[in-house]
Amino acid sequence: MRVSKALIPTVKETPGEAEIPSHKLMLRAGLMRKVASGIYEYLPLGQRSLLKVMGIIREEMDRGGAQEVLMPILTPAELWQETGRWQKYGKELMRVKDRHERDYALGPTHEEVITDLVRRELKSYKQLPLNLYQIATKFRDEVRPRFGVMRSREFLMKDGYSFDADDEACDKTYWIMFGAYQRIFKRCGLNFAPVEADSGLIGGSFTHEFMVLAETGEAAIALCEACGYAANLEKATGVPAPHAAPAAGGATQKAYTPGKHTVEHVSELLKLPAQQFIKTLIFVADGKPVAVLVRGDHDVNEVKLKNFLEAQELALAPAEKVMEVTKAPVGFAGPVGLSGARVVADKALQGGHQYVAGALEKDYHLTNVELGRDFKDPEWADLRSVATGDGCPKCGKPLKAGRGIEVGQTFKLGLKYSKAMKCVYLGEDGKDHETVMGCYGIGVTRTVGAAIEQHNDADGILWPISVAPYEVHLLLLNPSDPEVAKAADQCYEDLKKAGYEVLYDDRAEATAGFKFKDADLLGLPLSVRVGAKGLKEGVIEVKRRRLKDVAKVPAAQVLDKVKEFAAEEWKLCAP
Ligand SMILES: [Zn+2]
Repeated sequence: MRVSKALIPTVKETPGEAEIPSHKLMLRAGLMRKVASGIYEYLPLGQRSLLKVMGIIREEMDRGGAQEVLMPILTPAELWQETGRWQKYGKELMRVKDRHERDYALGPTHEEVITDLVRRELKSYKQLPLNLYQIATKFRDEVRPRFGVMRSREFLMKDGYSFDADDEACDKTYWIMFGAYQRIFKRCGLNFAPVEADSGLIGGSFTHEFMVLAETGEAAIALCEACGYAANLEKATGVPAPHAAPAAGGATQKAYTPGKHTVEHVSELLKLPAQQFIKTLIFVADGKPVAVLVRGDHDVNEVKLKNFLEAQELALAPAEKVMEVTKAPVGFAGPVGLSGARVVADKALQGGHQYVAGALEKDYHLTNVELGRDFKDPEWADLRSVATGDGCPKCGKPLKAGRGIEVGQTFKLGLKYSKAMKCVYLGEDGKDHETVMGCYGIGVTRTVGAAIEQHNDADGILWPISVAPYEVHLLLLNPSDPEVAKAADQCYEDLKKAGYEVLYDDRAEATAGFKFKDADLLGLPLSVRVGAKGLKEGVIEVKRRRLKDVAKVPAAQVLDKVKEFAAEEWKLCAP
């Protein structure tokens, strides 16, 4: 493709509304433009990357035995009412009426539509397993769209649904899809981790999120670099660093700690490490006070706490409530003598000794507090967030806190939808059985965004070659020099004939410096630079964007050099 004829509107300035690299770069490199809040149009370069991601997804889904279908975006309310999601989904479900006043929703996901299709067409166990997917536009009316394609309202998604005869067969399909997902994201050149996750609104019995690791990701995760264990922080369990005091001490003593009401300050004053503290936080769960104890160096995980208490509403208690429950201002709560609240404690406190805790009295703490001796055994549970330095639950090596961008999720749904919608098949035994379902999503537009989020530098994008809009950027540096133009044209023909996708910057009006800047911004993996200076020395430059290294080779060796560099780039996208 000749740049002189292409729609590639690059922009020098960073657009004001963009906060993260992928959003900035997708606008600056002319991959997309905004139409309305959370709604974008994809320009030729953006569309080429989307098509590449879709191509990889199709190949791997088909390899895993799935078949492609296409479902409507406008879906009738009746189907959503059957599963109760017409009410439950809330405002994210974009509802519309047709001219006959009938209710519809723009599909944010398609469990109901596909289950309706399959229940009509499925007769016998002989048709199972059945695994169907589509790649189509989805709509979710996000309250605050931001970060470009990371949280948009309209987006491309691959959604797949499997139907199996029984639980065991469903598990088999699930792990085939899990393997397909690993191949897909590796082939897209992404550094990712499948993490154990929470099944949320879609429901079901188990699920994995595929997270592309990036500091700007929205999801907090815990990672083990040694064995590859990864989990969503809402769920992760770590092995805490050892206790500070190894043995029981003497009787509790009162310590005067005027105005010191954080673990940090009291720890400094008493010269005792944070691991030796019992931090006591007063929460209100469904209107009732709950005292939560965690080790001084740990934090309460409110998701775990809420699940453990089976509470609908949970919040930290306001100061008056803390005063009422602990008889002291905020900062001096402790378990010794506490009677006004249910007491729950994090298991990591077990095995520790000589703890420091609030004395339930303004300006005082207690030292030498022993579990089980100085206060009654509380209810024990895993209530803390994993902290950096915690041991991996699988191998014991230190866990790292990280962030990720969720690009895909697999769910084992079980009978949730087939029961609600009576999706049954006639079994070998002559009886009706409900199908066991799984569902498998990939955010296609988000995968392109995540690839950029993970692969960029100060000058622009560093595309993995498998999803780059083109493989080679050919730059004609001195367009007014007929010798140079002739050599560049020849390169263009040779590269195309050899099967490369080439973007040829043949613009007459642009300077060499301008073309270099655009090449860095667009970030195609390889560039071939044909200029008067090089030709005088008998060479053409072949550059790798990622490594910034330049090979100067005679014109006759350009193809070989491109082939060698391209092969190395493809190695980074091997499944
Ligand atoms: Zn590990």
